Amino acid sequence: MKTYKIAVLKGDGIGPEIVDEAIKVLDAVAEKEGINFEFNEYLIGGSAVDVFDNPCPDETIKGCLNSDAILFGSIGGPKWDKLPKEKRPESGLLKLRKSLGLFANIRPAIIFDELVNASTLKPEVIKGVDLTVVRELTGGIYFGEPRYKDDNKAYNTMIYTREEIEKIAHVAFKEASKRNKKVTSVDKANVLEVSELWREVVEEVAKNYPDVELEHMYVDNAAMQLIRDPKQFDVILTGNIFGDILSDEASMIVGSIGLLPSASIGGKVGLFEPIHGSAPDIAGQGIANPIATILSASMMLDYLDEKKAADRIKKSIKKVLADGYRTKDLSSFDAKEIVTTSEMGSLIAEN
Ligand code: ATP
Ligand code: MG
Repeated sequence: MKTYKIAVLKGDGIGPEIVDEAIKVLDAVAEKEGINFEFNEYLIGGSAVDVFDNPCPDETIKGCLNSDAILFGSIGGPKWDKLPKEKRPESGLLKLRKSLGLFANIRPAIIFDELVNASTLKPEVIKGVDLTVVRELTGGIYFGEPRYKDDNKAYNTMIYTREEIEKIAHVAFKEASKRNKKVTSVDKANVLEVSELWREVVEEVAKNYPDVELEHMYVDNAAMQLIRDPKQFDVILTGNIFGDILSDEASMIVGSIGLLPSASIGGKVGLFEPIHGSAPDIAGQGIANPIATILSASMMLDYLDEKKAADRIKKSIKKVLADGYRTKDLSSFDAKEIVTTSEMGSLIAEN
């Protein structure tokens, strides 16, 4: 029997609740598909600060490097917000991504037909939306030096090198080749030099993919177009900060931030996590939607080349939604029954 070693990083807030449901579903699918998972837990974020005084201990990085894939929950919360920056949970996640070389974040936003009424947008605008944001994850303004703050002045630096842009552009064009063959590169080239270089390099990379159409869009326009007509997009290629913002925006097209998964790839081991954060406002109440994390587990199976198992999970989610089960975040959308985090996980596992 094939065994996969999965590093499990539950993290903080709702992280443990939602990851437990993904594991429930993975165990169910493993039984059906005759595969086996060895889950090994490591600490990350605030829970790692509490134990090791370090948001990303070496043991966690080692454990991840020694696995076939990483299943990640979420990190952070008010308890750790006042710590110095290097001790904050967010620094732990940034360090983990950097240490593992996870420079590409893939965030699909796929509409469930069962939830077209869940969106704040009109059904005819969103029915059939199937887009993916490819976000550069280890560069740009979140990492750029110099950075500085005193009481009167503060700054950050937005840097991209040719090499970084080339790498992420190839990921986006490869993704588009497998999909609907269109890349929309999002930048702010009318204002930022770093975006000018971004545009030039993306143009060059595009020459390697003659069957993929390339268009450029300014980020402000992209934010508007995403709401006006999301169906025009196939793959959105963009940098770290613009991708962060646009993918949260895309979550509202789909209905809830609790529905969107992501894959971070590019290094030796892929990391799979929901796009949302640790939601401290609802942690411990049993109302978090685990679907984003369960879909992330499905993306993990795709990455491990277990396509049938990955599809089983997606079908099961559709079935449970079609049956009218909803977590609280989706309560106003054709809900027949409101279920808890754990009930939602069990329903998906049973199906
Ligand atoms: P981060 O900076 O880590 O991305 P954030 O500040 O963007 O975090 P989130 O933790 O993503 O914030 O939460 C944003 C809002 O979405 C909160 O009101 C939270 O309760 C809600 N939310 C997030 N995840 C879920 C989920 N799985 N189910 C239901 N609601 C959620
Ligand atoms: Mg966020």
